[in-house]
Amino acid sequence: MDKIRMTTPIVEMDGDEMTRILWQMIKDNLLLPYIDLKTEYYDLGLSYRDQTNDQVTVDSANATKKYKVAVKCATITPNADRVKEYSLKEMWKSPNATIRALLDGTVFRAPIVVKGIDPCVKSWKKPITIARHAYGDVYKGTEMKIPGAGKVELVYTAEDGTETRETVHAFEGPGIIQGMHNLNDSIESFAKSCFNYALDTKQDLWFATKDTISKQYDHSFKDIFQDIFDADFEGQFKEAGISYFYTLIDDAVARVMKADGGFIWACKNYDGDVMSDMVSSAFGSLAMMTSVLVSPDGDYEYEAAHGTVQRHYYQHLKGQETSTNSMATIFAWSGALRKRGELDGNQKLADFADRLEQASLDTIEAGEMTKDLALITTIPNPTVLSSEDFIKAIAKRL
Ligand code: NAP
Ligand code: MG
Repeated sequence: MDKIRMTTPIVEMDGDEMTRILWQMIKDNLLLPYIDLKTEYYDLGLSYRDQTNDQVTVDSANATKKYKVAVKCATITPNADRVKEYSLKEMWKSPNATIRALLDGTVFRAPIVVKGIDPCVKSWKKPITIARHAYGDVYKGTEMKIPGAGKVELVYTAEDGTETRETVHAFEGPGIIQGMHNLNDSIESFAKSCFNYALDTKQDLWFATKDTISKQYDHSFKDIFQDIFDADFEGQFKEAGISYFYTLIDDAVARVMKADGGFIWACKNYDGDVMSDMVSSAFGSLAMMTSVLVSPDGDYEYEAAHGTVQRHYYQHLKGQETSTNSMATIFAWSGALRKRGELDGNQKLADFADRLEQASLDTIEAGEMTKDLALITTIPNPTVLSSEDFIKAIAKRL
């Protein structure tokens, strides 16, 4: 059989622990037999990040700007335990945070919907994609405990020294305060990534804040989204047959519960933190969540939303059989291959991505799945497969 050719490489970011094992199995069983795979390889495994003083992470992000498409394996974000375990020179930053900062991107998370793994919310038939703004608000807040009576003010000192003041509260007793900010540039990048991704995936875009209460802060988010939509996207949305819909956050929550899915829900930083965990657990399993980082320039980095599945890796190291779900990592590869195919006009590659996803879904729908899904499926008497046998079962169908 002739292998499918590629003209431009995909940036391949290898990772850690159990997902690194799955990564190799996926390549060996599902990709290399069919594709003349061209990747530019970066080893983001923790040991090599340490060896290069994390330069490899920066290099992989820059390569993503060059080639526009990357696929990433889950990686360890070091904490004190990991510093000891890997004898690290430093507690390196999260690779995802480093890459996101360099690409100025927004993360879109969507569940893989498959028959037999039913969402808790009965009306949900199609995936709901959450886009979380990843800068500012309460995550870069400054807080203070107010010990007793006194006045708290917001003071803005312009570069020429002029001051603008606003009273926050005249305290009569103890209390608490918080100052937070955001940047127009960051909100604009967020908005552009969301509008572009909606066009790219042909899904409606919802956005919600609390602008009726927050008349300057949240209202600025609303205005920036609307201005960018009116200026650059209205026509394209009409042509694509999709819509942009703004509402209040509480109204959005109520509507989401009654919707059938198939849309992107853009959220401010805190709302996105909370709602993405709600949506992903309601859809069934963390192991079935995909994630893609999209930059405002249209660079794409695909990955699974889950981590390196450390507990399973330690079992694997002891020689015990694991049953780790590789779906989200497979879909990271298929997402990247499809995007590469689209950008290069390589229809065969894009078609292969579709077939790989279909073979994976068919495997689960035929009752062959990993343990995490077997525990929650409505399919009677599922067959529980090991990590490797699950991938081989997909390969057989492929
Ligand atoms: P995790 O790797 O997502 O795993 C947490 C638990 O969820 C697992 O122990 C397992 O439950 C279940 N699970 C997750 N993915 C699964 C899969 N594919 N198949 C089957 N079960 C799955 O989170 P963690 O253990 O908290 O973190 C481990 C490492 O991953 C950390 O070092 C963290 O820094 C890193 N991390 C990386 C990323 C990323 O690169 N994007 C994201 C999150 C975390 P059971 O044990 O009950 O089977
Ligand atoms: Mg969270």
